[in-house]
Amino acid sequence: MGRRKLLAGNWKMNKSLSELPDFFSTLIKECGSLPQLLEKADLFFSVPFTLLDGCQRFAKMHGFQIAAQNAHWEASGAFTGEISLGHLKELGILSTLVGHSERRQYFGETDDTVEKKVRACLTSNVLPVACVGESRAEREVNQTEAVVTRQMQAVIKAKIGQQGRVIIAYEPVWAIGTGLSATAEQADEVHQLIRSLWEKAFGNMAADDLTILYGGSANAANAKSLFSKKNIDGALVGGASLKPIEFAQMLRALAV
Ligand code: PEP
Repeated sequence: MGRRKLLAGNWKMNKSLSELPDFFSTLIKECGSLPQLLEKADLFFSVPFTLLDGCQRFAKMHGFQIAAQNAHWEASGAFTGEISLGHLKELGILSTLVGHSERRQYFGETDDTVEKKVRACLTSNVLPVACVGESRAEREVNQTEAVVTRQMQAVIKAKIGQQGRVIIAYEPVWAIGTGLSATAEQADEVHQLIRSLWEKAFGNMAADDLTILYGGSANAANAKSLFSKKNIDGALVGGASLKPIEFAQMLRALAV
C-alpha cells in the first residue's frame, strides 16, 4: 500500500468558533484544488475540544480530518476535566495527538501515560499521533538517540499485539515554537532511527508503512527541504497552521 503523507496542524489553545468560516474559506481558496491535493496527502487539524464539532462540519464538507489534542485512557470515571475517547468518537473524531511535549512539560505526561493512551486509542479504533523528541539540553549532551529510543519503546509496547495504525511525530522540543527548526538532515536522521526501531519491533513492511511527521517551527519556507527527505512523510505544524495562506502553501509543497 505504501505510506500516506500527512500535514497536521496543531492549533494548541488558539482560535475561536467565530474565526472558523474565514479560516477555512481562505485555506480552501489558497489550495487551488483541495480534492486534488488530498489524493496525494492527508490533511488534519488538531484543535481545542470546544472547536471539534465546529471544525468537523468544514472537514466533512471538504474531505479533511479533525483530531483532538489529548484524551484520557480510561473509558469513564472520576477524572474531572478529562475527555474520553468515547466522547471524541461521539463527535466523529477518530484521531488524537498523544504525548505532545507541552503535555509532557506542563501537564505531567510521561512515557507511561503515553503508553496507556496509545494502547487505549488502538483498542478504541482511534488513530494516535504519538509525539517524541529531545530537549535542547539532551541534544547538547548527545542524548537524542537514547531519549527518542526510550520514548519510542513506550509507543512500541502499546502497539504490540494490537491492530491499527500509529503515526509518529518527531518534535525536538528546542525547535517547537522557537523559530529554530531542525535542519532537514537532522530530522531525517532521527526519522531513520524511528523507522529502524519500528522495523525491529514489527518488521520491514510495517516500518515502510509508518508515517513519520516532523514538527518544530516547520513553515512554508522550510517545508520543501524537509519534505524532500526520504524518511519525512509530512509535518505537525503549530504556529504556521494558524495562518491559512501559509498552511495551504505547505500542503501544496507536500502533495506532489
Ligand atoms: C507543535 O505544536 O507541535 C509545533 C511543532 O509547533 P511550532 O510549529 O509552532 O513549532
